[in-house]
Amino acid sequence: MADFLSLGIRPKINEVLRENGIASPTPIQEKAIPVAMGRKDLIAQAQTGTGKTLAFLLPILEKADPLRPDVQALIVTPTRELALQITSEAEKLVRHLEGLHVLAVYGGQDVERQMRKLKGGRQIVIATPGRLLDHLRRGTIQLGDVSMLVLDEADQMLHMGFLPEVEEILKQVPADRQTMLFSATMPQSIRRLAVTYMRSPEDIRVKSTTITVEKIKQLVVETTDRAKQATLRSLLDRYQPFLAIIFCRTKRRASTLNEALLQHGYLSEELHGDLSQAKREDVMKRFREAKIQYLVATDVAARGLDVEGVTHVFNYDIPHDAESYIHRIGRTGRAGEQGLAVTLVAPKDRMYLDLIEKGINLTIKREKIEGEHPPAAPEKTHAQRTREQPHGKNRKQVPSARDKKRPTPKPGRANRQKANQRGGRSR
Ligand code: ADP
Ligand code: MG
Repeated sequence: MADFLSLGIRPKINEVLRENGIASPTPIQEKAIPVAMGRKDLIAQAQTGTGKTLAFLLPILEKADPLRPDVQALIVTPTRELALQITSEAEKLVRHLEGLHVLAVYGGQDVERQMRKLKGGRQIVIATPGRLLDHLRRGTIQLGDVSMLVLDEADQMLHMGFLPEVEEILKQVPADRQTMLFSATMPQSIRRLAVTYMRSPEDIRVKSTTITVEKIKQLVVETTDRAKQATLRSLLDRYQPFLAIIFCRTKRRASTLNEALLQHGYLSEELHGDLSQAKREDVMKRFREAKIQYLVATDVAARGLDVEGVTHVFNYDIPHDAESYIHRIGRTGRAGEQGLAVTLVAPKDRMYLDLIEKGINLTIKREKIEGEHPPAAPEKTHAQRTREQPHGKNRKQVPSARDKKRPTPKPGRANRQKANQRGGRSR
């Protein structure tokens, strides 16, 4: 069995990983780390939640030179939330390595402040494309010394929406850089395009029998547009998620649904691109702390986010392609945990369901919810129905029947740690 040391990771980093409950590499880490350490280009594809982040972070930390202050590694991500998440994962490790620094460069934050930080010398920059280009145009960041480039969620980064920006960034990074692409999905057309920006990349795939993670149970619930909200509420009441992400097609629909859930006494918040950056960060922080139970989001939350305790994903609006479905449901069932993904399907959504099922090569189990009303009296709020349920501030202090049923948020990490202490492989 491989360990991180045998993959070329230094003992200090290995020790910090162990302290964080990470003792043995996942299959994608085992395959990708040696290739990345050899400074070869690579395209790595493995299911959601299987540890792709460390597969690129660890080689970067090993290769970056702490004695040189310039940007040596650049990681580009599609969303601010993902850039921040990777930054905080990198910071946990960098903290123990003298002379290395990471910086997140993303929109909605004070440019001056980011500029000042850049001056201090940052070997590893984790950025969203738009803000990175701002800095490049102002001349406040130079990428002339970048030797390692990562596109996380690479298929999305090379898709139409981001491609022009990414191409502009690529022009400013030395041609002899190492380029590494990571994603759970990599459609053929994008793969062909990717290769044109790379130097004979190694193709690294972790074979699995299914495209989606086996630990994520999937369910289709048939409903109608009119009954959708009531259906969702009855599903929330039935499944009692610990934390759930509810995906909507548009910012507006997310906002409207969130309002409705709040009115019914659910502890929810919205996350989408119309919010201020401060609000986005606050919502994510409270969701990670389980102070918010339901995150009503657009696809801004579909890629890469790793929040412990997300037991359920609901597709309130069905995604329009299989890739988007795979990434959305991949917000649960991470790091070997269980998860349930429920997709609401109205009659007009059938064609998308067909498309998704073809894409994932699986027929999803159907369920019809009888009647159009939730089980409890509709005139009462959710909080009233579950009378003893304190929400908001008191929710955590006074455990309620509802809370008791909710699985604890940390079993995964805790078990992992125990298994690791025993020297066992936990995943
Ligand atoms: P991906 O990018 O493949 O979707 P992430 O890199 O976000 O997955 O990792 C998912 C979760 O797995 C994170 O919480 C991470 O800390 C954890 N993890 C990563 N590597 C390991 C490992 N070797 N052993 C145990 N847990 C790991
Ligand atoms: Mg990832």
